[in-house]
Amino acid sequence: MTRLVNKTVLITGAAQGIGAAIAKLFIAEGARVVLTDINRTLGQQLAEQLGEMAEFRYLDVSDESNWQSISTGIEEKYGVLDVLVNNAGITGFFTDKGLDGPHDPEHLNLDSWRYVQQVNLDGVALGCKYGIGLMKKSSGASIVNISSRSGLVGIPGASSYAASKAGVRNHSKSVALYCAEQGYAIRCNSIHPGAILTPMWDAMLGQGEQREAAIAAVANDVPLKVMGEPDDVAYAALYLASNESKYVTGIELNIDGGILAGSSAAPKTDD
Ligand code: NAP
Repeated sequence: MTRLVNKTVLITGAAQGIGAAIAKLFIAEGARVVLTDINRTLGQQLAEQLGEMAEFRYLDVSDESNWQSISTGIEEKYGVLDVLVNNAGITGFFTDKGLDGPHDPEHLNLDSWRYVQQVNLDGVALGCKYGIGLMKKSSGASIVNISSRSGLVGIPGASSYAASKAGVRNHSKSVALYCAEQGYAIRCNSIHPGAILTPMWDAMLGQGEQREAAIAAVANDVPLKVMGEPDDVAYAALYLASNESKYVTGIELNIDGGILAGSSAAPKTDD
């Protein structure tokens, strides 16, 4: 359990779901982790549970002034950042700001569209901007951007989410090549999860028996016939964060139970 020893890590959206699983796994592998989120209560609780190698700081990824202050704080306390996981993201369906869509291409609401881009894409671009500044002194740094399977295919009812995640995929490659050109020891890769059971799904799945039926319906559309767990993504992030992936930059890693491997129109063997 030493794959991340001596590494200082910042994770966004780390209070729950995939970000929380990454924080737990990284600490188990010896990292020092700054958990950040807009949910102070859950973020603080988790950091306390994780012990002295964890601390919580408030960070709204869409707000550049938040990035400036966290960047100053990390520089003062740790001097350098080794790993940044840009994980925070929203679907845009259940916001508390009255910006819930519609998100289909014909009827999209521009303010809702912009809100999704601000969190999902601007948030990642700002993370990379400030992350690069903090990582230049590291001897082997890694930026892991959490995109989505929706960043690789169209999603008619969630076009703003899909466009934002496609932007994350492409920006990760620009960051990877920019850092290589500059001679910085900073790699950058994207992860593309699909159908991972986290709180993000709660409002879409409903409760009680309805929830179980909805989970079964989602699982039925996944080739492996099961929804993924946050740890499935955390292990991919661990590989990309550790020095084991020192020759890996600009790649996209799908963690989706096989969703992206095929096509719904493919002929079946018995056809
Ligand atoms: P989640 O359970 O909703 O957790 C995301 C966390 O990010 C929440 O604590 C959320 O706080 C926080 N957050 C929201 N807006 C933020 C902001 N502006 N700044 C900082 N934190 C913010 O989501 P998840 O399923 O773990 O998803 C994590 C990442 O994986 C996201 O980028 C998501 O798009 C991506 N992803 C997930 C799946 C999946 O199936 N779960 C599939 C593909 C991609 P609040 O709850 O208070 O909003």
